[in-house]
Amino acid sequence: MDTLFSRNLTPTSVKDLDDVFARAKRAQERWAKESVATRAKKFLQLREVLVRKSESIAETIHQENGKTLIEAITCEVIPSLELLTLFAERAKKILKDRPIPLRNPMLLSRQSYLNYWPLGTVAVIAPWNFPLYLAFGDIALAILAGNSVVFKPSEYTPWVGARIQELFDEAGFPIDVLQTVQGDGLLGAAIVEHGPAKIFFTGSAKTGKAIIAKAAERLTPVVLELGGKDAMLVLPDADLDLASSAALWGGYVNSGQVCSSIERILVPENLSDDFTARLKAKIAAVPADNWGTITMDKQKNVYEAHLADARKRGLAIEVGGEFNVERTKLQPTIVRGKGIEESLVYREETFGPVVAIATYRNIPEGIEKVNDSQYGLVASVFGRDLSLAESVARELQAGSVLINEVTYTAGVPETPWGGIKESGIGRKHSDQGLLEFVNVRHIHKPRYSWLSFKAVWWFPYTPFQAELFRTWVKTYRLSVFERLKVLPHLLWSLVQFLKKEPRI
Ligand code: NAD
Repeated sequence: MDTLFSRNLTPTSVKDLDDVFARAKRAQERWAKESVATRAKKFLQLREVLVRKSESIAETIHQENGKTLIEAITCEVIPSLELLTLFAERAKKILKDRPIPLRNPMLLSRQSYLNYWPLGTVAVIAPWNFPLYLAFGDIALAILAGNSVVFKPSEYTPWVGARIQELFDEAGFPIDVLQTVQGDGLLGAAIVEHGPAKIFFTGSAKTGKAIIAKAAERLTPVVLELGGKDAMLVLPDADLDLASSAALWGGYVNSGQVCSSIERILVPENLSDDFTARLKAKIAAVPADNWGTITMDKQKNVYEAHLADARKRGLAIEVGGEFNVERTKLQPTIVRGKGIEESLVYREETFGPVVAIATYRNIPEGIEKVNDSQYGLVASVFGRDLSLAESVARELQAGSVLINEVTYTAGVPETPWGGIKESGIGRKHSDQGLLEFVNVRHIHKPRYSWLSFKAVWWFPYTPFQAELFRTWVKTYRLSVFERLKVLPHLLWSLVQFLKKEPRI
């Protein structure tokens, strides 16, 4: 029997957390003693287990979350393998000590470097929409960096959570380095209250705000990966065939339950009909079994509210807008019409297979419309002239801007992932993402032991020091060449001073 089925998935009680965190602390102290190279080696074992179990893991994701099997593999298993492979190779380089060049000539005798060390026990609180990859990535990097993890999967995808635990256990990670606890938001809140070394949260902006408010009481640091209302800006010279195919995938993959779904499309006024017709035709051409299902009722209520608001405003539901008989799927939907910019479907995260198409008159207005959102996770620009597209990209307020592509760079672990505004704080993936899991220790030391001497700015303060530092201030106005001219004089005065005037 698969170990999954022998697991007890009864909810973890808040009272149990004391014991969970105590065990996590002990496990972390031992784990942190392993070198980064040893930890990275374990990742190759983990990769082996994930490859071996990939089909059954994808099946669990499919059963519990409703996405198609192929999406479970392409959007969850493969990115997880990519992430393991990349960071097993790169961790040693990213986490090694890093020298800091010191510019001030007064500090010639000294040197500085950064030293990274684990945070301790961190919390990973995850959503249900990518129940494997989003949690797995955070857990893996946390453990690679020498931390232990208390992990709470979404209450809607507990079995996938249990399977993540199984992967780490089977790969031979030490006991309690990862502990999966099962429960809803109340357990999540209790984890936050427990004061982990850092909280890695992926979920809605509403919960993110509640977490950061609670975390502030203890100054617990947080990384928050929150929602989005991602826009695609179709430039006047765009290849509409490419752009409409991208919108099809970006808007409806995983039934639109993606933080970086294309939820708004901005099209030049004169191209709107053509673009919409292409997208409609492409929706009709997708085989029925390519569409996944909606994961939960909570989402259906949001879709209903957004569509009711659109109808009330007289917007056109160009296609879709209806649930299937079992209410497990909402037809891929396009909403368009005058005044759409004020509607819920354009302004608030729908998190479903609904795309709002709006128009713009000129590129500056298009840019302004993309940026007119409380979110800023991902934006995309479509255009044939790459240099124009790139100059537009550099004006967009988002954590990532993709040119002639959509949605997918969370699955490219070399690149940073995260948002601005209400889309979050901090970054996942990339060197920067791994560094979120460590403390930074700055070490400052003499270059050689014989260069250990009392500093000129120590007590006692003498007239010579006052003069020396006033002269020093004036040098900031001088050109580099003039500064070089006075430097030998300053240094010589300093040496004379140090010889004659013993410091306390
Ligand atoms: P959610 O905020 O409802 O729940 C996320 C997690 O937080 C769950 O595990 C939940 O139990 C827990 N939780 C709820 N209340 C809590 C509290 N007070 N304290 C601590 N934990 C608490 O989000 P969801 O519905 O699971 O996920 C959908 C949202 O996630 C969407 O807004 C989506 O855009 C966002 N998301 C963002 C990213 C990203 O990378 N930026 C990725 C995926 C999903």
